[in-house]
Amino acid sequence: MVAAVPDGAGGGRKPQADISGGHLGRTSRADISVSESRATVSKWKSQSTFYVSIAPPLRAGSDRPSEILLRLSRPKRRCRRASRRDAGQQWQDSSSESIDRVEITFLGTSSGVPTRSRNVSSVALRLSQRGELWLFDCGEGTQHQFLRSDLKVSQIRRIFVTHMHGDHIFGLMGLLASIGLASSPDRIDIYGPAPLSDYLDACSRYSKTRFSYPVRVHSVKPGLVFEDKEYRVECQRLDHRVTAYGYRVQEKDRPGRFDIDRAKALGIPPGPVYGQLQRGEWVELDDGRRIDGSTLCGAPRPGRSVVYCTDTVYCDNAVKLARDADVLIHETTFAHGDAQMAYDRQHSTSTMAAQVALGAGVKQLIATHFSPRYTPTSTVSLNDLIDEARAIFPNTIAARDFMTHALPPKEA
Ligand SMILES: [Zn+2]
Ligand SMILES: [Zn+2]
Repeated sequence: MVAAVPDGAGGGRKPQADISGGHLGRTSRADISVSESRATVSKWKSQSTFYVSIAPPLRAGSDRPSEILLRLSRPKRRCRRASRRDAGQQWQDSSSESIDRVEITFLGTSSGVPTRSRNVSSVALRLSQRGELWLFDCGEGTQHQFLRSDLKVSQIRRIFVTHMHGDHIFGLMGLLASIGLASSPDRIDIYGPAPLSDYLDACSRYSKTRFSYPVRVHSVKPGLVFEDKEYRVECQRLDHRVTAYGYRVQEKDRPGRFDIDRAKALGIPPGPVYGQLQRGEWVELDDGRRIDGSTLCGAPRPGRSVVYCTDTVYCDNAVKLARDADVLIHETTFAHGDAQMAYDRQHSTSTMAAQVALGAGVKQLIATHFSPRYTPTSTVSLNDLIDEARAIFPNTIAARDFMTHALPPKEA
């Protein structure tokens, strides 16, 4: 799907090419497209039928067996839309573990080039309570991977880019252009190495593309990249052929579980006030009583952490960045026996990724960014790479496209 607003679509207005920090004006053409797109979406949403998707046939040598996927329209999660309307409802929904999850979905797990079963790099992080998606890297075809998943591009709020190699950024322009037609985000923030801003600027200028929403590009340096009330994102330099950054998303510690039975026993009527109490705030009730929310909550719950390191050969900064993380997603391009190739190309072997996980004391290693050279019929297969990693760090799994790994809330 070509989603860019073509030259002249804005009634002859000159295309704006400055993306950095720029607010690119809406065009009448884009507005029409957005409303048409929304009509289509709402029609689709009104359907609640099962549908069967048959995966494309795979060639011999593919690393994933042919399969038939039965998909079900995702049930609506009320908390995403209801959060601002009804704080009381939000409290009730957010207390459910099934909703209070951070989910990592792999949209591309191949290095360099796509294969029939693996696209090039992209990982989506779904922050369930916010109804937001954060994307890490955006290889070519990422927007097509979205179409084949349960994820919605309209929920993308931030994009973090590790480095400027094509298998990590060639999908970015198409995705950004399509987002403007599928939705109307308040703004998308993109973080990455310094050349990213010039790259997007040039792509926009030469393809005469302008976005119907603000896009802000941030050139990152080692250290803090983003912070708000709930999350903190930092990056560190990795060792690769070009400047590359690994990212760590750290959820901040959260208030402990709210004791609803005790609140009821105290005669506090359910409603938005429960949300305030759960956040540990003081509230004044209609009867004049003042209640300290922290007395109704358990011990603070530790935040969750996800670290994304690619592309890199083994480096101490990756260990530092991943210290005690819940999940480390680390590139695992080569088998241990191909270590020379890994050093030459500044990539990691299975054993290097495992050593980073071990050294950092993470809970889980998810290996990704596999070289297409390893297939089920090759002398060394992906299973061998994972076995090599597990020999050093047992809690290792291999990512595959569309795999979702959920992080439930942690208890104190
Ligand atoms: Zn790569
Ligand atoms: Zn690279």
